[in-house]
Amino acid sequence: MQLFRWQFAALLTTLMYVALIRADAQTAPAFHVLAFYSETVEHDHVDFARQAIQFYSKAGRRDYFDFATTTNWDDMNPNNLAAYQMIVWLDDFPHTAAQRTAFEQYMEHGGGWLGFHIAAYNDSGTHWPWFVRFLGGGVFYGNNWPPLPATLTVDDPTHPVTRHLPHQFLAPANEWYIWRPSPRDNKDVKVLLTLAPSNYPLGMKDVVRGGDLPVVWTNTHYRMLYMNMGHGNKIFTSKVQNRLMEDAMTWVGAKKGM
Ligand code: ZN
Repeated sequence: MQLFRWQFAALLTTLMYVALIRADAQTAPAFHVLAFYSETVEHDHVDFARQAIQFYSKAGRRDYFDFATTTNWDDMNPNNLAAYQMIVWLDDFPHTAAQRTAFEQYMEHGGGWLGFHIAAYNDSGTHWPWFVRFLGGGVFYGNNWPPLPATLTVDDPTHPVTRHLPHQFLAPANEWYIWRPSPRDNKDVKVLLTLAPSNYPLGMKDVVRGGDLPVVWTNTHYRMLYMNMGHGNKIFTSKVQNRLMEDAMTWVGAKKGM
């Protein structure tokens, strides 16, 4: 009987231990995200960044990822980035050579990146050829104005980022960018969402009259995803698009390093 009691106590301890480990596994973040943003840029972009921080902080509790933020772009250095499985640029991009180099090394060694809207902006004054290649080759060419809703078409309904979306949906008001050449021309780029031709002409002051306008894509050589959404305080007003925003984060975060 004494032995039985001892065995029972041991079994109970083991069960409690297993339960503790399981509880810990359920609450431990699956991945750590660091989001960079600036508060001194165009105010419509700051509005988006602040709403995105609220949205992803909440989503992180649902999807078990840790979402940290910083306005100090010098945090983009090798020592600091080593603690994060992915980084996000909400409303800005690196401005110093050291920040750029740290980003290149991070991405070349399997880091994850999710960029919104102006994060991918580059023109003849950018002088960062690696970044243009990383994006798939597109240089900023133009945009519509004012920001307007637009119908988007899903290019690949089986992809983890788009599989919860209908074939087409109306995305909330945004300033939509055109890229030349189109990232779709690059065989390494997979376009996931495109502005539907039915939107043309789009704009009043600045009018987008036609052409191929990819909105969300990935360069398959990297753990990266670019999303053109990110202008103003309407972006998170669509349940459909919110699902896309959440699935984009968990896809990049969960993708294994290279
Ligand atoms: Zn904008």
